[in-house]
Amino acid sequence: MDLYDKYKLKRVINADGKMTILGVSKVSDEVVDAQKLGAQNFFEMSDLLVKTGEYLAHLVGSEDALVVNSASAGIAESLAGIIGQGSQYHVYHPYTDRITKREVILPMGHDVDYGTPVDVMISVAGGKMVPAGYSNMCKPEHLEMQITDQTAAILYIKSHHTVQKSMLTIPEAIEVAHRHNLPLVLDAAAEEDLLKYVKMGADIVIYSGAKAIEGPASGVIFGKEEYIKWARMQGFGIGRAMKIGKENIIGLTAAIAKYLKEGSEYGESMIERLKPFVDNLDQIPNMDVKIVQDGAGRAIYRAEVKPIGDLTAKEICDQLRNGETAIYAREYRVNEGIIEFDIRAVNEIEMYQIVSRLKEIVGGN
Ligand SMILES: *Cc1c(COP(=O)(O)O)cnc(C)c1O
Repeated sequence: MDLYDKYKLKRVINADGKMTILGVSKVSDEVVDAQKLGAQNFFEMSDLLVKTGEYLAHLVGSEDALVVNSASAGIAESLAGIIGQGSQYHVYHPYTDRITKREVILPMGHDVDYGTPVDVMISVAGGKMVPAGYSNMCKPEHLEMQITDQTAAILYIKSHHTVQKSMLTIPEAIEVAHRHNLPLVLDAAAEEDLLKYVKMGADIVIYSGAKAIEGPASGVIFGKEEYIKWARMQGFGIGRAMKIGKENIIGLTAAIAKYLKEGSEYGESMIERLKPFVDNLDQIPNMDVKIVQDGAGRAIYRAEVKPIGDLTAKEICDQLRNGETAIYAREYRVNEGIIEFDIRAVNEIEMYQIVSRLKEIVGGN
C-alpha cells in the first residue's frame, strides 16, 4: 500500500530540520514497536501515567514526571495545576472567579509564536500573562518588579525562537522565582538536554516528544512532586481535551529511554554524511557550497548553498518545494541569499534526489 498514492499526498523530503508543519521527526522501529505494544494491550490508565512518570523521573533525576499529549498541553496543564493548587473545585471550574491569583510572568521577548503564541497556552490554563521587561531585554529586576500577590508562576521559554540578546539566564530566573516562593516553569520543548534544567532547579521542565527526543507526537513534564500531581489532576478537567493515548504514552517512554542511552546523531557522523552530499552539490554550476555549524552553536552541521547564477535563493527554494516531490530546505537565511540543507532526517537516496532536482532547476545536467 502506498499511502501517498492512496490519499493523493505529495512526497516530502525534509531538509529543513524538526519542523512541525512537516510532521516534526521520524520515529525509530524500536519506538514503533513500543507504540504497537501500547496500542494492543489494556492498562489501568491512571496507573500507566503514574508508573511511566516514576520510571521517567528516575531516568532524568526529577522528583516526578508526567507524559502529556504535547509540550503545549504541558504548559497549559502545569500552569492550570499551579493556579488550582490541587483544588478539586478548580479542576471542574478552571476559570472560576473564586481563584484570583492567576498572573503568569513571562519575559516579553519570550512570547513567541511556535505554531501558536505562548500566551494562548497561558490563557487555556486560565492564566493572565504579565510581560516582563521589553521586547529586546529582560533583566532579573524586570522580572522581579512584576511580582505581586496575584502572581502564580514565572514562565521561561528556552528556545531559538525567542529573543536571545540581553535576556536573563535560567538560573537567574529560578533565583528570582524561588526568592519569592514562586515556581519557575520552563518550556524547553525543542531542547536536547533532558537532565540539565531539572538539575538547575527549575520546578517544571517541559519537552515536546517529537522534537529532539524523536518520539511520537506527545510531550513530557519533569518536576517537583506536588506540581506534577496538580498537573496530573487536570486530566479530569481541561486536560481531557488534551488526552494522550496509551500507544503514545508507551512510545514516548521508550523513546526517552532510547534517547538518553544513545543520544541523537552527533556532529562527527553528521559531517561524514554531509561530505559526499556537499561534493555532489559542488558539481552543480553557479553555487558556492560549504559545511556550516548551526547558528545557535549546537552540534548540528548543515550544507550551506549560495547560488550565484540567475535564480535567487528564494526562487530556488520555491521551486524545490513545488516540485513533484516537495523538498523543504532550511530557509531561515534566504533573505541573505543562502539556502541550508539540514540532513538529520535525510537519507542518502534523498540527498541524491535533492542534488538532481537542484541540477534541473539551475539547468545543469
Ligand atoms: C515546539 C514548541 C512548543 C510546542 O510543542 P508541541 O509539542 O508541538 O506542543 C512549545 N514551545 C516551544 C518553544 C517550541 O519550540
